[in-house]
This record gives sequence, C-alpha cells and structure tokens, in this order.
Amino acid sequence: MCSIIGYYGKETAAPIIVKGLKRMEYRGYDSVGVATESNNQIGLKKGIGKVEEVNAKVHLEGLPGKIGIGHTRWATHGKVTDANAHPHPSTSGKIAIVHNGIIDNFQELKNDLEKEGYQFKSDTDSEVIANLLQRNLENVKNIKETIIKTVSELKGHYSFVAMFENGQLAAVRFHEPLIIGVGKNEFFLSSDVLGFIEYTDDAIYLDNRNFVIIDDDKMQILDFEGNSVKIEITKVSKEFADAYKGDYAHFTLKEIYEQNETILRSGEKTLDAIEKTADYIKHAKNIFVTGSGTSYNSALIAKQILSKYAKIKVEPIISSELQFSPDSIEPNSILIAISQSGESADVLEAVNIAKQKNCKIISIVNLLTSSLARESDVVIGMNCGPEIGVAATKSFTSQLGILYRIVEKLSNGSFTVDFKEISNSISKILENPYKIQQIAKDIKDISDIYVLGRGIHYPVAIEAALKLKELTYIHAEGIPGGELKHGPLALMDSNVFVIIINPNDATYSDMLTSAREIKARGAKIIGISDQESDVYDYWIEIPKTNESTYLISEIIPIQLLSYYAALEKETDPDYPRNLAKSVTVK
Ligand code: GLU
Repeated sequence: MCSIIGYYGKETAAPIIVKGLKRMEYRGYDSVGVATESNNQIGLKKGIGKVEEVNAKVHLEGLPGKIGIGHTRWATHGKVTDANAHPHPSTSGKIAIVHNGIIDNFQELKNDLEKEGYQFKSDTDSEVIANLLQRNLENVKNIKETIIKTVSELKGHYSFVAMFENGQLAAVRFHEPLIIGVGKNEFFLSSDVLGFIEYTDDAIYLDNRNFVIIDDDKMQILDFEGNSVKIEITKVSKEFADAYKGDYAHFTLKEIYEQNETILRSGEKTLDAIEKTADYIKHAKNIFVTGSGTSYNSALIAKQILSKYAKIKVEPIISSELQFSPDSIEPNSILIAISQSGESADVLEAVNIAKQKNCKIISIVNLLTSSLARESDVVIGMNCGPEIGVAATKSFTSQLGILYRIVEKLSNGSFTVDFKEISNSISKILENPYKIQQIAKDIKDISDIYVLGRGIHYPVAIEAALKLKELTYIHAEGIPGGELKHGPLALMDSNVFVIIINPNDATYSDMLTSAREIKARGAKIIGISDQESDVYDYWIEIPKTNESTYLISEIIPIQLLSYYAALEKETDPDYPRNLAKSVTVK
C-alpha cells in the first residue's frame, strides 16, 4: 500500500505533490520521492523517511516544472533504501514512473530487458515498468500503443503514473486505486481524493483496466483494448478537505472511536426539524422510510422502534427497489430518506418517485449541502462530521440517535433516551478492545460468519453482517434467531463462527437456546451480551442499559471486530475493495 500522485497544470507541481503526499501518507510511509518535468528534462529527488523528513533533507518541493509525479512507498520488493524509493527513471532517463502494487512477473521481464541492454538501479519490481515503457515507446512511437503493449506484458496488481520527458503524463489502473481530480486547467492523478481535494472536488473514479493520457492540456481515458471510455465526473464532498486521521491508524478506527461524542450530537443542530418530523408523522396516513446499505438497516430499525414504542406503522423500502414497485407508495404519504452523503443515486431516485406522488420528503442526512437535503421538505442533520471510512460506522449510530429522538417525541412519555448513558456505554466498550483484537485473529481465516438477533436486534444483526463483509471480505449473514431451525441450522459445523446478539431483555432466553442448538453442531459462538454464559466460546461484554439503547452498544464491538479482522487480513479498512463512499451511480 502506498500512494501515487501526478500533477499536470499551470502551477509549480512539486509543492502541490508534496502536500498531497503528506495527506495520503497513511497509505504507506517508508520512503518518498518526486519527479518533475521542466524544459523537456526530468528532475528527480527521493529518499527514505517520512515526507516531512525527506523534504527537509533534499527539498523535494524545490524541483521546477508544472508537471510531476510523486510517491510514498510501502516496500514489497527490495529493502527500504534511497535507490529503491520511487520514482524510477527508465534507462534513458526520458521516462519516470511511480507505482502502487506488485508486478508478479518482474523477474522474467527484468532478465529479458537486461539482455537487451536496459539497466536497473533498484531491487524493486516497479522499475521494469519504466524500462518496458521505454522499449515499447521506442518501437511503437505513440503513448497510447505503448501503454496497451506494456499492460499486456505486466502481470500483477498495479496502478502507475508515468511521466515522459516531453511533458506527457499517463496513468493506469489495474486492481489498485487511481482517481483523477479535474481542476480548472489542471489535472491530478491520485490514489485517494485526499491527494487533491484542496484544489478540486470534481473526481473521476477510474475503472479497473482503464488508463488516462494527459497531453496538450487535454485528457483522454481509454481501456486496455484502446477504446475510448466515457468520462463521468463525481462530486466529492468538500468536507473531505477538513478530514485528518489525527493519531489513529485509519479513518475507520477514528470514526468508531468518535461515537461516544457523535451520539450526543446526533440531530442536535436540527431539533426543530425533529419536532416537525414528529408532527408530520403523527398526522400522516402512510409513512415509508428508505435508504441503501447501512441506511436501509437504520430504516429497518425505524420500523421496529416506531411500532414498538410509538405504535406507529412505517414501511421500510430498499431505495434501489422502489423503481420496480412504485405503487407500493401511496400518494400524499411521507417518505423518510436516510443517507450519509445525501448523494446516493438510488436514494435520490426513490425520492424522485415519491415526489411525483406528492409525498412529503423528510431526510436524515450528514451533508446538509447535498442533493438529498435540497430535495427535502424537512432536513435532519446527523451532525457527526466527515465520515471518510467507506464502511459506515458513526453515521449509523447517529441515524439511530435521531430515530430515538423522533420516537421519544411520539411515545407519549413511554420511551425516553438517556444519551449520556449511551455515550458512557460506548466509551466503556471502546476502552477495552484487547479481547476483540484477539477474536479478530481467530476469525481471520474462516469463510463464514452468521450473526443472530431477534426482535429489534435483528436489524443490528444485518448491519453487523454488512460491516463484516465490507471490512473483512468474509461471507457474513444476519439471521433472525427464530429462523435458525427453518434452514440455516444446516450450515452449522465446526468451520463456522456465529455471533449471538444477546442483551438481557425479552429476547435473551430464546437466543440462548439458539446458541445451544448451534454449539451442539460444533460452531464457535461469540456472545455479545451484558451477561456471561457457558455457551459462549467468546464473550464480549456490553454494559447493561435498557432494551432500546442496547442497539447502539451491540454494534460497536462488531465494528471494532470487523476493523481488527481487516487488519489481520491486511486489507485496507478505510477503502474496501470495489466499494466507494458515496455511490453516485445507479
Ligand atoms: N512493489 C513496489 C515496491 O516495492 C511498490 C510498493 C508500493 O505499493 O509502495 O517498491
């Protein structure tokens, strides 16, 4: 894991590149380097250490020119040395590359290239890319064909940016991230939006097997067969610009740890909107609630707690499904739309369908500048600050906090929430992650996890399974405890782990029975409960609270478990493969 960056524009490239690298340093950090083009010549500086240290030593920022590339390395091939730091020039010095990933067949390619007279100055796998590009460019004489030929020869996982001495840039994505930032007369190439967000919020998420050539102030995106690819620009939230990880290793961990604070702030700046929402709900004939992913799981919880504590019926709808059954929403109803970013295309489409039926739209959203907020009659702000980790954590608990506040208003005093108590429970769980870290080691190699919950805890089981899937890539499924014997019990054997969400409330003894049935089939049991039991192979203790507020304390340990299991599996918890934070496409 490392970061690569490229700049093509009107400003001096090196300082912009160094700033971007600092922002992305969490991705990899043993060495750093920058190369720029000026007067048809490539200048290059690099060294081992953090960006700040190397810059102080060799003054990376001092390189001249308006086109450049940069890299922070996390060594995979070759020791951490100055020579192995990127960028790597080709033998002629007329091309330089930065690379993220691994070239599996580098040794064969290197042997061949050496026989042909190409020289290598590093032990990295990456340097073959520079020399292959040189050889292919000498043969085919144009950059597009050079890239197509080069990627046909490379095996492995890579993204790279190549700079040519005439000032052209090319960047390739193959199973490693690469995003293009489109500014005014300038282009950024980066592993992460944090590399350019200070300059532009227009981003193109390059698809796998696509590459880009930037030349003469123009950009062209192509696939590995040489076909042109349609350019689709996504707006990235400006709030990203304020996001720093602080002392945390990952945004996801930081965001999990913020929840004792964010829960207190949920909906806090829009309390009048909560009041208004309660009033709308009270007088509505039909109420629907929609979302995608985690936000849909919150919609399922909304149904449970509104019916249980306020005797109000709401129907949850998966946003992406509504287009196929638009008649499930009656005209003049209320639609509560939940979305962290407020830009999710599926949620916006659901809102659009509801608006055509003259429905009132209430949104629960983190970004108040979003399209969803603009489309809504009432907007409730999650108020939990930027959430960068792709897997939703603090936005989920903030959504629950808001739902609690709405139910409180509608329950005629039968439902009250002590947010301070919830916050203390969260702190208590977060204070002691050691047992969870240990369990993460034990689950890392298994292929299936089932999460069981009943009643209001069932949607939490679904959310728990989603977190495990997103962060660990382990197959996980949320199951209502009572359904076990109607099918899923057939899956239980000694290769399976089962998480039992088991607070000591009305669901407790039935869940314990389910746990025993599972244990009898050899599966390992992780019990999340305020009460210990001999049936649990692992017990994760949660503080005793009351039935409704258990929901929040239950999900926290599973967020942590998913995070630590991701670390054990060496996946990137902030940026799970194939997923994006704000899904603005359908
Ligand atoms: N495999 C390359 C190296 O060891 C790149 C590693 C990275 O992604 O930082 O230099």
